[in-house]
Amino acid sequence: MTSNNLPRFHKLARGVVSFSGYNGRGIAPGTAFGRTLARFVLGEVSDADLPLPVTKPEAVRIRAVKEAYYEVGAQVVHAVTARF
Ligand SMILES: Cc1cc2nc3c(=O)[nH]c(=O)nc-3n(C[C@H](O)[C@H](O)[C@H](O)COP(=O)(O)OP(=O)(O)OC[C@H]3O[C@@H](n4cnc5c(N)ncnc54)[C@H](O)[C@@H]3O)c2cc1C
Repeated sequence: MTSNNLPRFHKLARGVVSFSGYNGRGIAPGTAFGRTLARFVLGEVSDADLPLPVTKPEAVRIRAVKEAYYEVGAQVVHAVTARF
C-alpha cells in the first residue's frame, strides 16, 4: 500500500529495478508493468517510456497506526458481511 495509492518504480541498485505498491490491485498492472520492465532491462525502452517516474524508497510514517487501521477495518467489514 502506498500513501498516494499509486505504484512505485525504484532503481534499488545498479542493474536492480522494480515496480511495487499495487495497493491490492496488482494482477493486471503487475502483468503489464512487468512486460514493460522486461523491455527496460533489455534496453528497448528508456526511463521516459516507463509508466511511472523513478522515486526513492521511503519508510512509511506512523506505519503501526496505519496497519492497525486497515486490520480493524478489514475485520469489521468481514464481520458485517458475514452476517448478511
Ligand atoms: C489476499 C490478496 C488478495 C488480492 N486480491 C487482488 C485482486 O482481487 N485483484 C488484484 O488485481 N490484485 C489482488 N491482489 C494483489 C496481487 O496479488 C499482487 O499485486 C500481484 O500478485 C503482484 O504481482 P507481482 O508479480 O509483483 O508479485 P507476486 O505475485 O508476489 O510474485 C512474486 C514472486 O516472486 C517469488 N519470490 C519472492 N522472493 C523470491 C526469491 N528471493 N527468489 C525467487 N523467487 C522469489 C514469490 O514466491 C512469488 O512467486 C491480492 C493480493 C493478496 C495478498
